[in-house]
Amino acid sequence: MPRVLVTDDVDPEGVALLAAEPALQVDEVPTLPKDELLQRIGDYDAIVGRSATRISAELLKAGTRLRVVGRAGVGIDNIALDVATSLGIAVINAPAGNTVAVAELFFGAVLGLLRQIPRASEVMRDGRWDRASFMGRELKNKTLGIVGLGRIGSEVAARAHAFGMTVVAYDPYISDERFTALRVRRAPSLDALIAETNILTLHVPLTEETRGMIGKRELGRLPARSVVVNMARGGIVDEAALLAALEADKLRGAVLDVFTVEPLAADSPLRRAPNLLLTPHLGANTVEAQRNVSRDVCLAVRDALLRNDLSRSLNVAGGSGEWSELHNAMLVARRAAAVARAVLADQGMRAVRHVALRISPDLAHGAGPLLAATAAGVLEGVIETERLNLINARALAEARGLELSVGESQELGARTLEVALAGGMQQLAVAGHAPDVGTPRLTRIGSFHIDVNPKQTLLILTNHDVPGVIGRVGTLLGEQKVNIAEYHQARLAQGGDALAAISVDGAVSEDTRRALLELPDVLSASVVHFRDQ
Ligand code: NAD
Repeated sequence: MPRVLVTDDVDPEGVALLAAEPALQVDEVPTLPKDELLQRIGDYDAIVGRSATRISAELLKAGTRLRVVGRAGVGIDNIALDVATSLGIAVINAPAGNTVAVAELFFGAVLGLLRQIPRASEVMRDGRWDRASFMGRELKNKTLGIVGLGRIGSEVAARAHAFGMTVVAYDPYISDERFTALRVRRAPSLDALIAETNILTLHVPLTEETRGMIGKRELGRLPARSVVVNMARGGIVDEAALLAALEADKLRGAVLDVFTVEPLAADSPLRRAPNLLLTPHLGANTVEAQRNVSRDVCLAVRDALLRNDLSRSLNVAGGSGEWSELHNAMLVARRAAAVARAVLADQGMRAVRHVALRISPDLAHGAGPLLAATAAGVLEGVIETERLNLINARALAEARGLELSVGESQELGARTLEVALAGGMQQLAVAGHAPDVGTPRLTRIGSFHIDVNPKQTLLILTNHDVPGVIGRVGTLLGEQKVNIAEYHQARLAQGGDALAAISVDGAVSEDTRRALLELPDVLSASVVHFRDQ
């Protein structure tokens, strides 16, 4: 009978669900010292805990029977995920259970700020009765600007309607249909959102795109007396710029629940900033959220142990079973999807709605995993990556309103696939070839036939087919110390438009991309950094 070790005071409701399962033996212990846990772990098939227990490489290796690690919460910084993956141990967390907790804290904090509730309470405790200093503002008829209309952003939007607010959001990765269903008006750009917002709130993951997304420039463009709220991740709002705006009295106020460095330093100047309401990362700190995440993770651990259901697992059991034979094809699918998404995004189309995968008949047995890999490629860099993998990508994509389809095509050569993305009036198909042995290749972008191994970083340029372009591009990349691994130039007709697929080592900076766009005859430049190295 599988044995489960539960530790770190996981909420009892989830533990009771596991204990009620006659096919499982559950032992509950307080957070154990490292050595004791190391001695005991060999007896267990699963361990469920919170952040207090470190699931180190050493512990995972000592857990010779271990099949599942459950984390009652979102963050998995305390788990050696790569080691778990290489050992074939599923890691399961509970990302959704605290959504409402964050949305409710948002309104508590904003109302606290606008009505100065914390300060009024302090004044009362001081023995005073001062009403004149506490003239507040209402939420009704104010414009709420939400950046990131995912799980939490959607819950905030739903509650904002009840307050009679106008709700506008910026999330280029969400379809128009989802905006309509949530009764949220779409802002065409972050700048457009900022220009009309009274209360700006961030609900995006911390990514290359969102780090420092609200800085001096953006704060300067907010209407006078606006409010800024960051309950997502420290670093999305530039703390120094926010401090300066508050000190200069440009904002009505701000709320921070998350910080670039946590815990926030005792002497941080933020602690003395005027009109700034601070909370110590309390977003998920409710009894209900802890109960939800405990139930979620315990049920998922039970299903993993007893039904072999790994759909909630964060990692792929590395190279095991039938997936290993599909490895190259899954890589091509994921990278073709990432390329199509990046090129479409640079053409101004980011809200992908339809994802169609076509595969040659000899790949038909892998339709499921290949579609998962395609979905992962479309979502890469768009949602929090610690939650995205080949097992959960399809469910995540569908939850965001993407329509996924997969079909066989006799027209495609052996071990070939094509990923077509569409949204609005635009669409783009990228094809690739995945031999059994040898390197996978991308073979077509739109109508252009190419042949390139998509490794590390792919640069896609379109240009007028005139002499000298390749030389200038090569020189510029050389000057920027970007090493070209492969350069494939394709054209439809002599003197028409041409496309270059350039595989490079390492990263290509935004400055380099801009410099490429400045070159004569270069029409577009897209950079795709593949994350699943
Ligand atoms: P989610 O993945 O469901 O939603 C994130 C949304 O951001 C997605 O819809 C995505 O399309 C959008 N997005 C990504 N990049 C964007 C960009 N550049 N511009 C605009 N939109 C972009 O995530 P979630 O569960 O709603 O969580 C949102 C944030 O809240 C995360 O940063 C998470 O870590 C944080 N969080 C904080 C607490 C807390 O205690 N304060 C608790 C839970 C979650």
